[in-house]
Amino acid sequence: MYDKSLLSLNSHWMPFTGNKDFKSSPRLVVRAEGMYYWDIDGNEILDGCSGLFTCAAGHCREEITTAVHEQIKELDYTPHFNMGHPSSFELSKEISRITPPGMDRIFFCSSGSEAIDSSMKIVLAYWRAKKEANRQFFVSRQKSYHGVNMGGTSLAGMVNNRKVFGIGLPGVFHMRHTWTEENKFSKGQGEKNGVDLANDLERMAQTYGGENIAACYIEPIAGSVGALIPPKGYLERIREICDEYGILLVFDEVITGFGRTGKAFAADSFGVKPDIMTVAKSIANGAIPMAAVIVNDEIYEKVVASQGPNAIELFHGYTYSAHPVACAAGIATQKIYRDENLFARGEKMVSYFEEQLFTLREFSCVKDIRNYGLMGGVEVFPDEAGPGIRGRDIYQTLFHDGLHVKTTVDTIIVAPALIAEKSHIDELIAKLKNQLKKYS
Ligand code: PLP
Repeated sequence: MYDKSLLSLNSHWMPFTGNKDFKSSPRLVVRAEGMYYWDIDGNEILDGCSGLFTCAAGHCREEITTAVHEQIKELDYTPHFNMGHPSSFELSKEISRITPPGMDRIFFCSSGSEAIDSSMKIVLAYWRAKKEANRQFFVSRQKSYHGVNMGGTSLAGMVNNRKVFGIGLPGVFHMRHTWTEENKFSKGQGEKNGVDLANDLERMAQTYGGENIAACYIEPIAGSVGALIPPKGYLERIREICDEYGILLVFDEVITGFGRTGKAFAADSFGVKPDIMTVAKSIANGAIPMAAVIVNDEIYEKVVASQGPNAIELFHGYTYSAHPVACAAGIATQKIYRDENLFARGEKMVSYFEEQLFTLREFSCVKDIRNYGLMGGVEVFPDEAGPGIRGRDIYQTLFHDGLHVKTTVDTIIVAPALIAEKSHIDELIAKLKNQLKKYS
């Protein structure tokens, strides 16, 4: 146990956190198991967000801790440039068993942000290999989140992540996001506006020249911004336009990958196949940083064939790419998903989760409810004093009331682990009700 009196909070500059605020009233977690966290005072906290969409198989799975322990004892680190270790090949084989057909070339890195920036370079390398180096523009969407590295920050459409820095790569264009008034309180995919919103991509192609656009980046469900679900027909139309203009379609599945939508990937749930997927979060159950770019065979083969027999084909990689310990955690995680048929188990809980989530509609403070798979967004009207104040209050009060969720501005995002039982959903909803009645 931690001795609180010995803790100094001074030195750590915490990410995406109000440091002054946190340090004046810290929320410190010291243990986790299954669906729960415990704070430093021993209080139990239901994890309503699988950590940060990471721990799909629940916390502290013994299979993963054992695999990590065994690996770190045997081989703690290998550089991955011009040498390797078997686990990265084993993990890529495991993952390629569940990826859409023909998408089985996998480049490892350590975070979603790295996956996004790596994927942008792979896209550019591919077009150069195809002798279409003019394709340098990227299209993404407002309100999207593609991580915080330079490429991802430029693609992203989350205003606060960009405006404090005042920078962004040139040649990135943003389509509209997919939230519309007409689709409020839709269960799953909304009926309206899908094709019209997707046609933004066609307008971009007509404005900037489809032949100049390298790739279109889409989060199948925009997660961090508050679970924006694509309306019906949206993703299909995006795919059609990409095909028409030869634009690569990248699905950022950092949140949706590995069972969140009820299938392995959102690409499977929505029946739309991208050319590239970026994944992270649940790839290794959040236990060790791990992420990947998954590309179709044509992209890999084109880039590799474009260089001579002894050449390095892609001048890109990280010290921690395919770290052996992360690979061990990834292999153990994928085995849990397979052995426990966890994606299907999560999918079975979806209708109960949806039914319970929509009971929150009774509160007058609720502006919208959105859901797909085991992910939901409950948006509340902002406080008179401005946006984000209620969201912050909700997050902090819920934590002290024993529930962990994510809030973005005034939207509560929930994403229970795929091992959740009905009793966990009930506890989650009861705690949310207790909170929402304060504002209604
Ligand atoms: N892409 C999406 C869709 C995400 O939700 C996130 C993180 O939440 C990222 C990329 C960035 O991932 P990371 O925080 O691991 O860099």
